[in-house]
Amino acid sequence: MPPTAPAPAPSARAPAAEIAFDRQRSLTLPCGRAVVVVPLDGFCQNQLTPDREGRFDDPYGAMSAVLSRVVKSVDGRRPQPSHLADMVTKWPHGSRTLAFLWARTLTYGSACDVAWRCEPKAGGCGHQNRPTVELDELPVAPYDRGLLERGLEVAVRSRAGAEYVFRVRLDSGDSHARYHAALAAKEASIIDAPLAQVVLVSVNSVEAKVGSAKTSLATLLGTTPGDVLDHLRYFVRLLEPRTFLDEAHRAKWVAKANAYLREHCRLPAADVEAPAGGPTGDAEGADGPAEGGGEGGLEAFDGGGTGGADEAPEALLVPQGGVATRFQVACGKCGAASWQSVESTLDFFAPHLKDVVDD
Ligand SMILES: [Zn+2]
Repeated sequence: MPPTAPAPAPSARAPAAEIAFDRQRSLTLPCGRAVVVVPLDGFCQNQLTPDREGRFDDPYGAMSAVLSRVVKSVDGRRPQPSHLADMVTKWPHGSRTLAFLWARTLTYGSACDVAWRCEPKAGGCGHQNRPTVELDELPVAPYDRGLLERGLEVAVRSRAGAEYVFRVRLDSGDSHARYHAALAAKEASIIDAPLAQVVLVSVNSVEAKVGSAKTSLATLLGTTPGDVLDHLRYFVRLLEPRTFLDEAHRAKWVAKANAYLREHCRLPAADVEAPAGGPTGDAEGADGPAEGGGEGGLEAFDGGGTGGADEAPEALLVPQGGVATRFQVACGKCGAASWQSVESTLDFFAPHLKDVVDD
């Protein structure tokens, strides 16, 4: 098939059946690119199969290899294979995930088994839940342009009184690879994945030496106090989109996250164009001037939004974009709520193993 210009892009949330096997239809990614993907083949299955010991340590490395294979056109053009491999590694995580998810859905359908145990350690009943998630129904949101292009600056004050300013970038194949390498070298631990997106910009307004995107995770860990790193891990995880059980759970989560941000982080307002998810607030208040320094940055987001008498839900103070692969679930037996992610299930990456496993 010649790589002709794709048809007008359908919604990313179109039912899979509508585009199944229509290889000319393009898909719009959260970063704005339009891509055409084809089903996963045996090469992809090989990349996505755990080793003999059952280890599947680097799913995002495998995702890069798979995307290099299944993405057939980008914005109407067919890239050279070596260039494509580089491109899909640099794409932000939500775009990579949506392209992968779509190739997987074209191949196996959109149902994904998410087995999870209602955790007794967290006060749950121990019930083994086995819900099925339809991958093509997961919400998709475009990325905030500023966050996509420049990243987001955040200032965090240590308990000892120093102010650290960081630049946080969207996660990507590159940041996953940096984290994976640091983990393999025992220079980082399993809690440090969010930190691979971060570079240190300044300490007490003095430009830091740790300011390059090439800076290793180990260097960041070695130059930053633990309390500041804890705030940073929490902050980065807030950028990941989520699906909630209902509006009450969403509102509670957002209120808690915003309270945390107000207490521990300061955001230069110019970095973000609008609060995520909110039809609210940005007409009045959020565009207001952010001068004055001090704690002004955060308040500029909030503006008059929450102070008003309207019933509009509070918006999170940082933008979220991508595919909401993390979702809140209620236990089928006791009703306890918890968080699960399709990205932590083997069925998301390797549905081809289902028959083998069940025998
Ligand atoms: Zn339970």
